[in-house]
Amino acid sequence: SASKHDKDKGVNIQVLLRCRPLSEDELRVNTPVVISCNELRREVTAIQNIANKQIDRTFAFDKVFGPTSQQKDLFDAAVSPVVNEVLEGYNCTIFAYGQTGTGKTYTMEGGGRKMKNGKLPSDAGVIPRAVQRIFDILEAQSADYNMKVTFLELYNEEITDLLAMEESKLPDDKSRKPIALMEDGKGGVLVRGLEEEIVSSAGEIYKILDKGSAKRRTAETLLNKQSSRSHSIFSITIHIKECTPEGEEMIRCGKLNLVDLAGSENISRSGAKEGRAREAGEINKSLLTLGRIINALVEHSCHIPYRDSKLTRLLRDSLGGKTKTCIIATISPSIYCLEETLSTLDYAHRAK
Ligand code: ADP
Ligand code: MG
Repeated sequence: SASKHDKDKGVNIQVLLRCRPLSEDELRVNTPVVISCNELRREVTAIQNIANKQIDRTFAFDKVFGPTSQQKDLFDAAVSPVVNEVLEGYNCTIFAYGQTGTGKTYTMEGGGRKMKNGKLPSDAGVIPRAVQRIFDILEAQSADYNMKVTFLELYNEEITDLLAMEESKLPDDKSRKPIALMEDGKGGVLVRGLEEEIVSSAGEIYKILDKGSAKRRTAETLLNKQSSRSHSIFSITIHIKECTPEGEEMIRCGKLNLVDLAGSENISRSGAKEGRAREAGEINKSLLTLGRIINALVEHSCHIPYRDSKLTRLLRDSLGGKTKTCIIATISPSIYCLEETLSTLDYAHRAK
């Protein structure tokens, strides 16, 4: 029926699973591995010993990247198609979701951005690769375009602009520009007071990314923040000028949000003691609401609770409707992380 067709159009969510390798320290102490990845079958198996009985649990995903997978593999298979959608005029979001220490930031930002002979280093992550790809395509098309980026952090439901110039980040500083979210009346949200930088080369974006990451670290120290509790959102908006065959001028607009989420251990803990988490400043409201929204979208629910958190209000025009969403769930192979790993596998598997 027509209504079913409309509903199906609304959901476009891909869930990928990436398992990091054991670290050198973990290898040195012979940490047992309890995760096995089957990339071909796109399955992940967790091996659990309960009362001397081995119990395997297998989870299926859209794509699986095992411990030996490289940054380039993940980009080519999973992110590059999303970049193409953005240039076609879609709003797309890529999330990294997982326990702290499992590779969210490594996956999104990676180890290096310094170009060598015009090439990115092999450990460069999703953000620099996406940026590079966008410029490569636009330049190959000799496109007439305009690109701007924003970079913000969400901590305790409060937004910090990672691109703002002012040096002081103390909360009682009067010079701190208040950042407010306002509905734009067209289903989107305006962030008042947020810096937008116009960029025209990949190099400029890498500088912005470095500046923002440095600011994030300084603010962490100054305010005693725990980075595992904050979300960061790097957004790229592209306007491409085009001519129709009839000679009419058209502007195509696409947006890519790259989101490094707060550690998912915060969600499980707050599930258990939501009351206390709330007293502590509703640290996890955004992560919890995101989970609810993904489920609501997958289940074609009529009510999508975008308004319940800042993260989901910010991403409203890029979640559901004519958008593409990619969730990269990250896990550790170590036996000592098994409980958190199972909760990530459950969460991500349900989001499918
Ligand atoms: P998170 O952001 O989820 O807290 P990080 O990205 O900081 O985790 O990763 C934790 C550590 O593991 C870092 O030292 C990082 O370089 C390393 N790491 C994570 N994923 C990988 C991977 N796929 N390959 C190699 N090293 C990784
Ligand atoms: Mg991180």
